Amino acid sequence: MTTCIVCGGDGVVPFLDLGRMSLANKFLTREEKDRHEATFPLVVGFCRDCAHVQLTQHVAPDAMFDHYLYVSSMSDTLKRHLHDLAATMTRRLDLGQDSLVLDIGSNDGTLLSGFRAQGTRTLGIDPAENLVELARQNGVETVTGYFGEATARELVARHGPAALITSTNSFPHIPDLEDFVQGLDIMLAPDGAIVIEAHYLRDLLEQNAFDTVYHEHVSYWALGPMKRLFERFGMEPVAVERLPLHHGQIRVTVRRQGAGLVDDSVARTLAEEREIGLDRLETYERFARKVEGLRDSMAQMLRDLATAGKRVAGYGAPAKSSTLITFLGLGPENIAYIADKSPLKQGRFTPGAHIPIVPPEQLLDDQPDYVVLLAWNFADEVMAQQAEYRSRGGKFILPVPEASVV
Ligand code: ZN
Repeated sequence: MTTCIVCGGDGVVPFLDLGRMSLANKFLTREEKDRHEATFPLVVGFCRDCAHVQLTQHVAPDAMFDHYLYVSSMSDTLKRHLHDLAATMTRRLDLGQDSLVLDIGSNDGTLLSGFRAQGTRTLGIDPAENLVELARQNGVETVTGYFGEATARELVARHGPAALITSTNSFPHIPDLEDFVQGLDIMLAPDGAIVIEAHYLRDLLEQNAFDTVYHEHVSYWALGPMKRLFERFGMEPVAVERLPLHHGQIRVTVRRQGAGLVDDSVARTLAEEREIGLDRLETYERFARKVEGLRDSMAQMLRDLATAGKRVAGYGAPAKSSTLITFLGLGPENIAYIADKSPLKQGRFTPGAHIPIVPPEQLLDDQPDYVVLLAWNFADEVMAQQAEYRSRGGKFILPVPEASVV
């Protein structure tokens, strides 16, 4: 039994064991791949007391976040989404030139660039030195570090309270939620708002997206446990939206209790979560069996293609590709190489399996028979970019919700 990071109870029951894995974002240089690589258990659990889904064992954050290869501006879809978010929240909250927007896990400053274009004050905080450097080059003031009670005290003394605090895709990374929410409480203006965007647990289950489980993601959020967490600190969700981005996300707007009207979407979403069983252990045990079935059928499909002499490559080396590759037991003998747009990843090797990463142009030079779409959440974008590969007869394999050829 593990202590729950939302309610502090000791009722966390493990339901999915993905085995020992290297860190999903530690893409290796040629020299690094010959050295010892650390692996850690990857086990997902469900809290019987508050229904929060979480990893049962945590890796020290510094090992994962001090240097980060995922850059927001690399994806056209994500960049557009973040700039839309800035425009939407500026309008909804009526932010002006004196309003401070704090973005936690601000990456290369893509979201804050959107807010700057809207005319607000901006401040970013991110633990990754390399990303902070990129953000500064983009003209976005950014502090290097983790957000929590201590940093919030420093930031509020220097910059004043924030009218809006955003956390897009960083909230699932927080192991010490109590310290984090205490920080939010210190930093947030009395009538301010917090906007959290995170992969939605419901979408994860419906898409069978087990590969989005990796050590960085200590939490898999539904609204129920999130509401319980914020209520402990005198705050409450006032609006919830589901977004098609990434793997399906929720955007939750949180305010101090009584600071804003609570939208119908909150009660509706909570009722839906109960209806589909997000608060019951059986739901997760069923999911675990589906994941094991997917592993077996996908591994079989790749073995059959190899037997038939087909050449298979991969597209996209997001962190989740590491979970999929490791859990399925794949290596360069199944997927010869992976094409990825990010210059930071090209020339490196995937963690654990050591599959080489190459520029996307190699797909056309080489024209493999099949390409496993490891970045399946950007399927439309990738397939549009790879129209030429497909027009020459190349086929894509989608790994989830079940292995299929498109
Ligand atoms: Zn709990």
